[in-house]
Amino acid sequence: MQMKKIASQKSAIARVFPVLLGLALAAPPTLAANRDFAACLDRLRAQAIQRGISKATFDTHAARIEPDLSVLESLDAQPEFKTPIWDYLAALVDDERVEDGRAMLEQWRDVLRRVEERFGVDPATVVSVWGVESNFGRSLGQRPLLVSLGTLSCMGRRQDYFRGEFLATLKIIDEGHIAPERLTGSWAGAFGQTQFMPSTFLRLAVDFDGDGRRDLVDSVPDSLASTANFLNRGGWRSGEPWGFEVKLPAGFDTSVAGRRNKRPMSTWTGRGVKRANGEPLPADGVERALLLPAGENGPAFLVGKNFDVIYGYNAAESYALAIAHLSDRLRGGEGFRTPWPTDDPGLSRKERRELQSFLIARGHDIGAADGMIGTKTRRAIAEEQRALGVEPDGRAGQRILKAMRAIAGN
Ligand code: CA
Repeated sequence: MQMKKIASQKSAIARVFPVLLGLALAAPPTLAANRDFAACLDRLRAQAIQRGISKATFDTHAARIEPDLSVLESLDAQPEFKTPIWDYLAALVDDERVEDGRAMLEQWRDVLRRVEERFGVDPATVVSVWGVESNFGRSLGQRPLLVSLGTLSCMGRRQDYFRGEFLATLKIIDEGHIAPERLTGSWAGAFGQTQFMPSTFLRLAVDFDGDGRRDLVDSVPDSLASTANFLNRGGWRSGEPWGFEVKLPAGFDTSVAGRRNKRPMSTWTGRGVKRANGEPLPADGVERALLLPAGENGPAFLVGKNFDVIYGYNAAESYALAIAHLSDRLRGGEGFRTPWPTDDPGLSRKERRELQSFLIARGHDIGAADGMIGTKTRRAIAEEQRALGVEPDGRAGQRILKAMRAIAGN
């Protein structure tokens, strides 16, 4: 969750630690680096004990960890490819996730009903966060948390921040909520079905299945309740929609757009804004803001407080829109009325896997057809685009998929 923002910030580590970064790419750490890391772990041990974490917990699970320098690369990675919002949403809110989400709503109906009673957050919203954060518990991240966070506590920028997360992880183990070997996650330490950071876990995780442990890895009830608790504590307003798609009249002055620029509905009505489905705007006294995620030629939305609460989970408007839209789809809603301003729409995960299968069949070494579009897939796409005589931007969209289908004779 929160760390994605930090990951995108420009960093100074490449200037400060060029040698270290070189090592990360080429060779195991030197003896000197090992000594520094061991000394850093000793300091962390003292801090852990100061915080009431037992010596046994530290010595068993943290005293002998070895640094994983690859997390420093992730910390400093500059996104080489800016994902258009229509690609982002095409993969996060695809038919597969809508079907999975509806099945989960059914399977966990009783738990979700009790979660709503206690935290005031509706089932579709809770399940949408679950589906986007961990694909309903299927993608939890594989990196051992103490190794990643221990490394980031001792090397690189943001050591203070990561030290807090490292100590919080030890606290989780010390209190017996989750077995240490189950504590794996993203390189930055987000873990479990809710992808909470460890400090967020300590503040907001909930035991909802009543076994006395807050287990966001192996307990779905704990995970759903903890997500709802997060949203509740963020100021969720029960029964209020996140917002809705709207249509702007011709010549509308879009300088009023922006998530923080909330206005009473009378303002929007007065300026000729209508719901995209043609209905008049609700006169419900709720202040909402105009969101134009792809500029004035794409879909437009009026969003209220609950959109901000979702935004608080991951600090990105595209993320909040994915959750919001998925929740509408789970309630039976359809896609957006206004198309995205592109003549080459994005791909669902199923279509991404299909595209990757074509690339593999044509001899590109891109690993498995997993639907994840990474550097290797983009390079392979760019090669095919070059051969086709089109702009080799490496983007996975409908156009290249259709071209690959035609070549394969499908
Ligand atoms: Ca529990």
